[in-house]
Order: sequence, then C-alpha cells, then structure tokens
Amino acid sequence: MKITDLRVLLHERTMPAVVGPPTTTLALLTVDTDEGISGHTFLGAPGEDVVALGSTLVRQVKPTLLGSDPLDIGRIWLTLGRRGLPPTLQGAIDVALWDIAGKAAGLPVHRLLGSTRTAVPVQTSSWVYRDPADYVDDALAYRELGVTGHKLHPLTQLRSFAGTPVAAEADIDLCRRVRDAVGDGHRLFLDAAWAYDFGEALRVGRAVQALGYEWLEDPLSADDLYGYVRLKQHLAIPLMATEITSGGLTALAPWVTQRATDFLRGDVVLKGGITGLRKIAHLAEAFHLNCELHDAYTSLNNLATLHLAASLPNCDWFEVLVINPPGEHGFSQLEYGLAEPFTLDGQGMVQVPEQPGLGMEPDWDLLTHGSADVLR
Ligand SMILES: [Mg+2]
Repeated sequence: MKITDLRVLLHERTMPAVVGPPTTTLALLTVDTDEGISGHTFLGAPGEDVVALGSTLVRQVKPTLLGSDPLDIGRIWLTLGRRGLPPTLQGAIDVALWDIAGKAAGLPVHRLLGSTRTAVPVQTSSWVYRDPADYVDDALAYRELGVTGHKLHPLTQLRSFAGTPVAAEADIDLCRRVRDAVGDGHRLFLDAAWAYDFGEALRVGRAVQALGYEWLEDPLSADDLYGYVRLKQHLAIPLMATEITSGGLTALAPWVTQRATDFLRGDVVLKGGITGLRKIAHLAEAFHLNCELHDAYTSLNNLATLHLAASLPNCDWFEVLVINPPGEHGFSQLEYGLAEPFTLDGQGMVQVPEQPGLGMEPDWDLLTHGSADVLR
C-alpha cells in the first residue's frame, strides 16, 4: 500500500454560546492510499493557526510522504519528529495512519494496539462559567446521565478566558458547593489549568483535599517542575502535571524521576498522536503511575484517544469536555463532525467502536457545507 495524497478540508464551526470565541476553524486531514483506503483526523490544537499548519503540511510534509507505505507508522513518526515540524503535524498524520491501518486490517484500532477492555468510564469535564450555580447544575445533570466522575475548570479560568480577576478563594467556595450538591459518593476532580501561584495552589490544594477531590490538575505553570516538587511535599491529594509540557516522551522523564507529578498526562494532538502518547503511557506504567489521557479538542482525535485508552492498563478515565451554554447538557463537543453519535450506557461507560480503523467516519454533509476550502 502507498500514500497517494494528503489534503486538508477547512470548515468554520459556530461554537455554542459560551465563554470563548464564537467560531473556530476545523481542519480535517485526509490521507489517501492506492488501495482506496483513507484515514482522517482533525489537525492542530486550540490557538494554533490551522490554516497555516495545513499549508505547511501540504507544502513541506506531503512531498516526503507520497509513495510511502502508510503502515510504516513508527518510521514515519520518527522521521517527522526529527524534522523540527510542529508536533501537532506529527500527531495528526499518526492518527490518520492508524485509521488506515485499522481499515486495512479490518479491525478497530484498539485491537491493533492490544485491547485491555472494550468500554471506558467517562469523566465529564466542565466548561468555564461565570456563575457557580451553573457548575452545580452541570455536575448534577451528568451524574443523572450515569457519569461517575466529573471535573471542574473553575472560576479562576476567567482570568485567562475573559481577563476577569478572580480570587482563588472563589474556586474553593465553588468546589465546596459542588461537593455539597453531589454528595460524598461522587468522584470529583479539579483542573486549575495553570492559574495559580504557589500560595494559591497550596490553599486550594488543602481545601479540595479536605473535600475529597480525587486529583488537583495543573495548579502551577506548565514548566514549573521545581514548584510541583515543592507543592507535592505539602499536599496529600494527588497532583497532575504534564498535559501541555512540550518535548514529548523524553521531556517527561524528569517529571517522573524528580517526583514532580503523580500522573503523566497528554493528548494525541500535542504528544505526537497515538504512537507518541502510547510511549508516554508506557513510561508511566514502568513507574506504576497512571497516564490519564486529556480531551483531544476534536471528535476524531477523541475517538483516537478512546481506542488508546481501551488498550492501556493505566488510564482510568476518558475525559469528555462538555461545552454547552449554561443550563444545557450534552456531548456536542465530543461528536461534532462525526457521522454518528457516541453512546453512553447509563453506567457512565462509553463503548469503543468495533468498526475498522477509528470506527467512525467524518460527517461529510456537515463539514463540506458552505464555502469549505481544501488545501492540497
Ligand atoms: Mg487539563
């Protein structure tokens, strides 16, 4: 089998009425082969210029991949990683190649990776709201749908999202309100998304520890390895770092050996696709740590995440970011651009698709609607 084409379809998505930009550009990468099998995924991370990224892909990467065997996934991954290209290009091509490999084998990707299970527990992950009552409403609504774990992106996110000064104590109050509402039996998590200084991290950490939260994610700056080591000496609640730490696998080794985090973390977009993230998960496994997989921003990349999660013994949750206007609940973020919906089983588990490849196809009617451009 040989790669015959790479192209990028651009689609303007209108976002739900939430804190954040009103539209976002989605860039669907397609890799074609001479056997009529194509692989797909979305390109790039939030904040990245996906049009520029798509142009780099077709100008600089495509000429080097045409004629390659798409099943040489490891070789292509290494080659792209050595070229100093944006890591998100390496990741997107990798996911599309796994999609091709599964379709060629007639197997879902999780079977190629070595399945450990066929359903994974969903952890819903809140969007950012201005009113604590909306967070409470969210947590109760997803619990009602059977979801067993819920994570907060708290009010201090408004500092970066809206330029609004918010005291860390507002997060403590919020975490208490949500705990009071859902009761002690429900599993809660806090993701501070790099918002705190050391003193704030310590205060919030002690509070959510007392409230029985399961982990405190990214309290300090992403590169503050020294601060995480120091913070861990003062807190019993598990700390999670490395979600956006750049440099891939080898850059994460010191986070483990210096005991700066209780988990490794990453997504298929920023950490080099299924291949890159799987290496990180195995690094964690060698130290008996979990590698919890981050929501991968777009539906097809989340699908890739789900297949990887189904193969890993050391990942407890499939994180699903729920982006909805206040008072509304659902999984539109997870499903946008897919031809079929994800289904939860009422026990908070999502079934991993058993169709070949990633197991779901892009929603071409939606994605080509209007003035969709193609980079090729
Ligand atoms: Mg996070």
